[in-house]
Amino acid sequence: MKHERKSKIKKRTCDVKGCSEKKKQSIPAGKAAKKAGLDIEAEGSNAYLCKKHWKIYKKETKDDREMRQLGWN
Ligand SMILES: [Zn+2]
Repeated sequence: MKHERKSKIKKRTCDVKGCSEKKKQSIPAGKAAKKAGLDIEAEGSNAYLCKKHWKIYKKETKDDREMRQLGWN
């Protein structure tokens, strides 16, 4: 078991590029975030979003799921 504690500096802001709002919600960084159109600057496997970007992320990813369920592909 490896436990790396590299977070000397605790980042408390949103990981979206250019955003300096307080972070609110963590999401898996990567595909989903990109799909939501968010420019994430996260180094780990998780990214943090502020309220505003979390809303966008939630909306975008939800729409995507719903559309697939409805067979809109
Ligand atoms: Zn943000």
